[in-house]
Amino acid sequence: MPQPQLTPPEAPPFDRHTRDERVHELTGSQFDVLVIGGGITGAGIARDAAMRGLRTVLVEKGDLAAGTSSASSKLVHGGLRYLEQGQVGLVFESVSERHRLRQLAPHLVRPIPFIFPIHNKKPRPLWQVSTGLFIYDTLALFRSYKLHRTNGAKKTSTLEPGMTTEGLSGSVLYYDCMTDDARLTLETARGAHDAGATVLTWCKVVGFRTHRSQVCGVEAVDLRTGDVHGIDARIVVNATGPWTDRTLGLRGDRRRILRPTKGVHLILKRDRLPVNHSVCLVSNDDRRVVFAIPWGTRVVLGTTDSDFSGDFDDVACSAADVDYLIALANQYYPDAHLVPGDVLGTYAGLRPLVGPAEEGLGASQVSREHTIQIDDDGLITVAGGKLTTYRRMAAEVVAVIARRLKEEGFHVGGCPTGSVLLPGGTGIAYRGQELITLGPGGLEAERELEGVLGRGTVEHLQETYGGSWLSVAERAAEDRGLGSPIVEDLPYLWAEVDHAVRTELAMTLRDVLRRRTQLEIRDHAATCAVAPAVAARMGALLGWSDDDVTAQVADWERASGPSMAWASSEGQ
Ligand SMILES: Cc1cc2nc3c(=O)[nH]c(=O)nc-3n(C[C@H](O)[C@H](O)[C@H](O)COP(=O)(O)OP(=O)(O)OC[C@H]3O[C@@H](n4cnc5c(N)ncnc54)[C@H](O)[C@@H]3O)c2cc1C
Repeated sequence: MPQPQLTPPEAPPFDRHTRDERVHELTGSQFDVLVIGGGITGAGIARDAAMRGLRTVLVEKGDLAAGTSSASSKLVHGGLRYLEQGQVGLVFESVSERHRLRQLAPHLVRPIPFIFPIHNKKPRPLWQVSTGLFIYDTLALFRSYKLHRTNGAKKTSTLEPGMTTEGLSGSVLYYDCMTDDARLTLETARGAHDAGATVLTWCKVVGFRTHRSQVCGVEAVDLRTGDVHGIDARIVVNATGPWTDRTLGLRGDRRRILRPTKGVHLILKRDRLPVNHSVCLVSNDDRRVVFAIPWGTRVVLGTTDSDFSGDFDDVACSAADVDYLIALANQYYPDAHLVPGDVLGTYAGLRPLVGPAEEGLGASQVSREHTIQIDDDGLITVAGGKLTTYRRMAAEVVAVIARRLKEEGFHVGGCPTGSVLLPGGTGIAYRGQELITLGPGGLEAERELEGVLGRGTVEHLQETYGGSWLSVAERAAEDRGLGSPIVEDLPYLWAEVDHAVRTELAMTLRDVLRRRTQLEIRDHAATCAVAPAVAARMGALLGWSDDDVTAQVADWERASGPSMAWASSEGQ
């Protein structure tokens, strides 16, 4: 039975002021565990360690989820592809975690239906795909939201009327889960903070501290002030995702653990690519499965998978990526006549896959399993894995830490994260397909706010903030300005900007436009138009000068511009 998140009463606000105060307190402090990297892996480790009572610090060079953890396909899934590759253990672990995460964060991990259509018996005959889905349901111990169903061609075309019927022999309907990757990371880091961890964003680790040949901390630059701080810790964990090898390189280590591959997603209007379900599209060129996933008024189309050797801080969609994905969507939805100009936004990230390039595998064949390495100098490195399995990976890493500390005479308890809800998971539950507010007066308050804000807005706030939705909704209902959308046609309200700054550690304009909301990728052009106003609102809350506001807008344009730069080479 899931338990509410443990919140020590003294947990200060999760905001910039607390972060700045914690930076000032670093001198002379000694932590048990220091985690480098504020993606889902690092956040998961920090939360687990802090909840076991360890003095924990998380150090991230950008915003939370600034790396791969805001660039995934947003699926909490077993992965049919891994089943095809025979990675049964990974699929079993993933579907078990899918089940658990639905309980721990019902607002963030929601079941959605998928259609896997078979045209011209590709990639496999219908009966084989259906058998695969039976194994998938079995590995999930039949706890999927609904079990899979096999449909003939006629039923398939009623389910997906826009899809081509040429060569269609039928489809399999099955369920997996969708999440908001950046918010899953944010809530996990927030959980770490609530359990007593120090969370330092915008602090970059530039070197390691050693004592008698053992790693005993790091040197980190506060990117807001330029000050360098030494941070001491008994145990240091490298959880820097695609940057893993670079972090190892900070102490002269030339090993290559990773083979990062690039994945790109496009965002289109739903009325331009009319999918009723998440549809699995199989490329004729490389037999990869690409998903077209409904996302409110939008569709997320992706992903590509190609080796990458450029600047890890500058990964962007190319014209070739757009052409590949658009051609595949047109193959399945020929009447859509999609063109690159239909793309409203894009995002790209690097998969931190374990395995050197020399192995001669295609990018899609490299394993999604993770590895935990302990070096002679005591540094622990965790690499690989998936968003879906982050909690299990974190538990394994903290078990290693616990064994090490035991040798030094410390007792560390067992893993609590399997049964303690993420912060937004409290006070909310599903009634059928609908999220509802629990607790005395919950439903009444919900009905009242629905009358002011509308059902669609209430649903959006519940799915975004879980049990914390009421405070955002109340602010939006009190003030007409705060209750209006930032961009017409997208659900985000001005009240969410305030909430992000006050309680979600949003410190820059891009934190809000890309990760607290996903405005930037849902409609880049419209976001360009509202960016100055959002910066001004943040500035009023954070005490920015006019020059600061202008600089924030310029920084956002510089950082987000490359996501649409391909359009100039397409002659858009
Ligand atoms: C295209 C794509 C689609 C995917 N789809 C899915 C999916 O649908 N489902 C799923 O389960 N998984 C998916 N994944 C995999 C999943 O997204 C990743 O496994 C996961 O996000 C990796 O998280 P991480 O924390 O290890 O890395 P990251 O999120 O990249 O975090 C590493 C962090 O370390 C920080 N850092 C680096 N160097 C330093 C330093 N010197 N000092 C301080 N901080 C530093 C970085 O800024 C970064 O924030 C996908 C991946 C990709 C690329």
